[in-house]
Amino acid sequence: MKKNFLECTLEEFEALVQDLQMPLFRAKQLVNWQGKAIQSFSEMTNLPKLLREKLESLYYPGLAQAEQHWISKSDASEKFVLSLVDGEIIEAVLMKSNYGSSVCLSTQVGCKMACRFCASTGLHFVRNITCGELLGQFLLLEKYSKKRISNIDLMGIGEPLDNYDEVLAFIRRIISEDFRKISARKICLSTCGLIPRIQELAEEGIPLTLSISLHAPNQAIREQIMPIAKKYPFSDLLKAAEEYFARTGRRVSYEYAMFSGVNDSLDAAFELASVLQGKNCHVNLIPANPIEGVSFSPSSTKQIQAFKNILTKRGINTTVRRSLGIDIEAACGQLRRSSLLDGPGLK
Ligand code: SAH
Repeated sequence: MKKNFLECTLEEFEALVQDLQMPLFRAKQLVNWQGKAIQSFSEMTNLPKLLREKLESLYYPGLAQAEQHWISKSDASEKFVLSLVDGEIIEAVLMKSNYGSSVCLSTQVGCKMACRFCASTGLHFVRNITCGELLGQFLLLEKYSKKRISNIDLMGIGEPLDNYDEVLAFIRRIISEDFRKISARKICLSTCGLIPRIQELAEEGIPLTLSISLHAPNQAIREQIMPIAKKYPFSDLLKAAEEYFARTGRRVSYEYAMFSGVNDSLDAAFELASVLQGKNCHVNLIPANPIEGVSFSPSSTKQIQAFKNILTKRGINTTVRRSLGIDIEAACGQLRRSSLLDGPGLK
């Protein structure tokens, strides 16, 4: 079986060129080509034909394939429906700004976590996305962006910490000198709260931004909407976040999607304020995004503001996230392992 070209190491390339009795600098050239979003090895015109043919026989280029590309009419976000080498379909989002672009990448085909409000859960888990496939998503979106990508959100389909090794390999590669040298601080990894993996991540020495999907002020509400809370209880999760901060010096962000009548009462705001009081953290309130077949409804803008005011008054750093790409179903929780037939209805 052919291997993903984007996953090869310099050492593997060195062995390959030595085998072909070619000089070692060819291996370095191959590493450079890994960053160039090629669709075919024939694009590598600075390499001998023999080497290109050898590559063709051993590898596939690894760039994700855009099956559909939706551009939001209300903001500058673009959603991509992508196919992987085995035909599996995932989604990724590009958000452009004057300061550079952000990409939101998927880490799994489907998701096991079953959060009740999230579209990614609607279809079952199929498999993990490999490091090479994450690079392939990044390179494709970067190509469309025509601007430097400065931020990466690991917030698409899937639970990144449930695919720990591949996600970490991707992060190490994308921040490395010989790839894009993206600042680790500009990589945001969002998790539903897999405590042992959060502890492991704290030891990696990568100063990324950790975002925890909290969505509740206590265990009772959290376990109603997030089954993972039964395995990793609320208070243990907050403790793990504290330890993460103590170990890394990186302030943790909490995501809190606001669902009307579920987690948005003023009592909930007071309770959240009291559990987070004195902790060095940031709360990101997310106006809930509509999901087909999900009965939760979004909180009103007024309720979100009142909730925010309670947190802010108690000294908790709080922002309300602007939801991008709602019209193309590219916003938080709206990505899913879509079938190609059911796009959001515009192109
Ligand atoms: N598995 C990761 C990444 C998932 S999605 C995690 O759980 O964090 C990124 C964010 O969108 C998460 O905070 C997720 O809980 C949130 N989200 C999911 N469905 C949503 C919805 N309908 N409205 C708003 N945010 C939602």
